Amino acid sequence: MSNEARYIFGPVPSRRLGRSLGVDIVPFKVCSLDCLYCQLGSSGPKITERAEYAPIEEVLAELRKTLDAGVLADYITISGSGEPTLHSRLGELIDRIKKITSTPVALITNATLLDAEDVRRDAAKADLVVPSLDAGDEETFGRINRPHPSLTIEKLIAGLVKFREQYSGQLWLEVFVLHGINTSAEQIAKIRRAIDLIKPDKIQLNTSVRPPASSDAKRAADDELCEIAQMLGPRCDIIAGFSAKGTDEQGSATAQRILSILRRRPCSLEDIHTGLDISPNQAIKAISQLHQQGSVETVRIDGKVFYKAC
Ligand code: SF4
Repeated sequence: MSNEARYIFGPVPSRRLGRSLGVDIVPFKVCSLDCLYCQLGSSGPKITERAEYAPIEEVLAELRKTLDAGVLADYITISGSGEPTLHSRLGELIDRIKKITSTPVALITNATLLDAEDVRRDAAKADLVVPSLDAGDEETFGRINRPHPSLTIEKLIAGLVKFREQYSGQLWLEVFVLHGINTSAEQIAKIRRAIDLIKPDKIQLNTSVRPPASSDAKRAADDELCEIAQMLGPRCDIIAGFSAKGTDEQGSATAQRILSILRRRPCSLEDIHTGLDISPNQAIKAISQLHQQGSVETVRIDGKVFYKAC
């Protein structure tokens, strides 16, 4: 796939989804939340209005071109640089993706809009939905996910429960834990109570392994993750700490371009993806690869995350 792709990225290796071909349908950090652990950095205003943030004809044309070039994937994954359910034509997009490929469609969502019927109807068209739930009470929701003022954890959980009742596809709930914020037995018990209502097919436990938006986002240690996984029950897998193998050649080329820039000066994620005209996701994957190789490090300047060559 060419570097000029605006909406399609990858395929990237994913422990959960195998080879995942990403479809990015909202602009950088158009999101209803501003999570402490967000790899896209901290955001400006939070958004809950749905709109056609990316023209779906262009998204579909790019996807068709990628698939025609022989790119193979285990999932077409709608995710990206913000919250994809904010796209007002999400349901139509999924219907039309299914007309051009038999590859299953996955949707990764922060679940905040699932209390709205139109969003549930759109999301239900995906073969696999991976929503997030990081808190069982309002205070922790506020601390970790820093939501738009109209959102509450009660509404988020109610939306997930309603969605599960209507949706017969696979529902894999991601729980992201940050040491010292939502890792206590009391916090995990609250999340477990919500999970018992939601009844996901799987629970996937994650923690902060890449440079997060905030230094308060502390990674949970491996033994802490194991204890939490036990508390969340037998359907829970730990997905944190997976290091991607077999990153494709194009990803390596992108990583080398990024490294040559970082050798000259430290850059933020935004500097990198706008400077190279690639999607934030492509930039994140390449930076992550460089981190694993020990070629770049993260520094904070005036509280903002920058990357520099080691
Ligand atoms: S992690 Fe996802 S849901 Fe949270 S602020 Fe970033 S883009 Fe939004």
